[in-house]
Amino acid sequence: MSNTHTHDNFTRCQQLLGQLNEYADGELAIDLCHELELHLTDCTDCKIVFDTLTKTIKLYHLLDENPEAIPAGVEERLLRRLNLVSS
Ligand SMILES: [Zn+2]
Repeated sequence: MSNTHTHDNFTRCQQLLGQLNEYADGELAIDLCHELELHLTDCTDCKIVFDTLTKTIKLYHLLDENPEAIPAGVEERLLRRLNLVSS
């Protein structure tokens, strides 16, 4: 077994996960995008979060095109639950 789950690795995961929202919005710097993508290829935990996030964002954009499809505030609560809304 490799010893990849060090404290440093955990911190790195938290940093990268904090950038996922920017990444999904296409606002993340290109070198950070590459770093994130590289990390996702060998970090299962982050990959799961990333997959969930991208699905949620697709859902969010669908709802954004049909704002009357669901009651107001539902998508915001969904994003907040995933810690995508910081304020
Ligand atoms: Zn990770």
